[in-house]
Amino acid sequence: MSEWFNETLHSGYGQRLTMDKVLFRERTEHQDLVIFENAVFGRVMALDGIVQTTEGDEFVYHEMLTHVPILAHGRVKRVLIIGGGDGGMAREALRHASVEQVTMVEIDRSVVDMCVKHLPSISNGAFDNPRLDLQIADGAKFVEETDGKWDVIIVDSTDPIGPGEVLFRESFYKACKRCLTDGGILVTQNGVPFVQGSEVTNSFDRLGPHFDDVWFYTAAVPTYQGGLMAFGWATDDSALRQRPVAEIASRFAGASLDCNYYTPEAHVAAFGLPAFIRRLMRAK
Ligand code: SAM
Repeated sequence: MSEWFNETLHSGYGQRLTMDKVLFRERTEHQDLVIFENAVFGRVMALDGIVQTTEGDEFVYHEMLTHVPILAHGRVKRVLIIGGGDGGMAREALRHASVEQVTMVEIDRSVVDMCVKHLPSISNGAFDNPRLDLQIADGAKFVEETDGKWDVIIVDSTDPIGPGEVLFRESFYKACKRCLTDGGILVTQNGVPFVQGSEVTNSFDRLGPHFDDVWFYTAAVPTYQGGLMAFGWATDDSALRQRPVAEIASRFAGASLDCNYYTPEAHVAAFGLPAFIRRLMRAK
């Protein structure tokens, strides 16, 4: 009988996955890291008892957090990823030939090293790409101190517990704004609103003072339990999230991307929010 991985994210509600083979399990300098095989999702990586990514469903999350802002913007040369240790976000951003450099700031080197070793399909060579600049550092400190500017910033963080907590603060969003070029876009991992509604309310309130257009878009990622997941969207150019589908489709065709989730139609539809998420945006 396989041992069960029991996720500890919510009290009173949770998912469990069989650990058919444990490939790595250790306490890193920052968090508990486990990588195991599961019959349904393939290889799974979890941090501090919470599933971060799986071979089976990672495409939804990684495609939607990269291609939506990059194609909405239309002339992205520089991308900054905060977190993203499994390398899936870097992999997708680097698929855009227009992107000259991706800077990735991950706090935990062990996540990068162990994902390269045990989950190579997720980064798929991204860490060897000369256009990737990997920095091992706290993302919040990095954006406070850097003089760099980026067209798109992607926050691929853990939940607001442990080392990821600083990536949900207003001071972090303010520093990200300073690091964006004119018309640049910040997108964030913002939890599953049905069970983590306060993340939507808090991020909306904390992004609001610094950006003219703050919104969310959604996708359902099976192992981020509870229905639709929310991605935060912040920019000063409100036209960017209202691009017509034909314009996005033309850019998508130009980028020659072969995607498993992303389509121009899914891109545009993702900004249509259900009423309960719109209420969460203004819950305070
Ligand atoms: N997709 C996942 C989710 O929604 O649960 C998150 C993916 S995982 C790649 C998030 C990464 O953020 C982890 O590798 C973690 O080490 C990193 N991280 C957490 N706090 C950080 C911080 N303050 N600075 C940089 N990286 C951080």
